[in-house]
Amino acid sequence: HDCRRVRLLAYFGEASVACAAHQNACDNCLNPPATWDATEAARKALSGVYRFHQQRGQHFGAGHLIDVLRGKPTEKVVQFGHGSLSTFGIGADVSEAQWRVVLRQLIALGYLQTEGDYNTLELTSAARQVLRGEVQILLRQPAVAPKPGRVAKLGKGTSAQRSRAKSPPLPLDEAGLARFEALKAWRAELARKHKLPAYVIFHDATLAEMAHAAPDSLEAIENISGVGVKKLEAYGRDILRVLGS
Ligand SMILES: [Zn+2]
Repeated sequence: HDCRRVRLLAYFGEASVACAAHQNACDNCLNPPATWDATEAARKALSGVYRFHQQRGQHFGAGHLIDVLRGKPTEKVVQFGHGSLSTFGIGADVSEAQWRVVLRQLIALGYLQTEGDYNTLELTSAARQVLRGEVQILLRQPAVAPKPGRVAKLGKGTSAQRSRAKSPPLPLDEAGLARFEALKAWRAELARKHKLPAYVIFHDATLAEMAHAAPDSLEAIENISGVGVKKLEAYGRDILRVLGS
């Protein structure tokens, strides 16, 4: 949910600071995603793994852990006596899908690791920091699926989604919006022609940046984030034509 540039560079061992608010900022800095504080949920999940191990020295996979956290009296819960654990049912307020996100994130952040053929979960030594409440875990707000009732009321159900998808990821003036729409139309045609998903050609964010910057040369296009050498070669001239320069 935070600066993608920092994360990517960190992956390659390079320290960096979050993007300044300019047009080459990464998508997360341009449009910060909504987050929810999953610190409590993370502590509950790690406690769940800890209690399994404490009880009989055993490890279990994500599915069973979620059942225990959500207080589901499954056969396995009965078989292992997990209904009597202090962690049984402490996470009933978090949906199964959200628990999966939390667990995936805990693995990605190195607080949990999976083991063996059954992908059983084990705490890493770093998990202690989370259990002690020394680390805050912020997660991207899960995309909320539209409620069926609301979709039905909108008739076809897609007009609201379509108009939302239409709004550009950058605030654009009228001329910029026209350029954005022209670029999207060009991309759609190209996608159809090459039987490619549109985002493979360019993301909306990249098209919005082009619409905003209105580059008038190949060099100017190259400065737009999301345009590599190959794409500049393949599409640069087309883009200039679409932009009318
Ligand atoms: Zn950034």
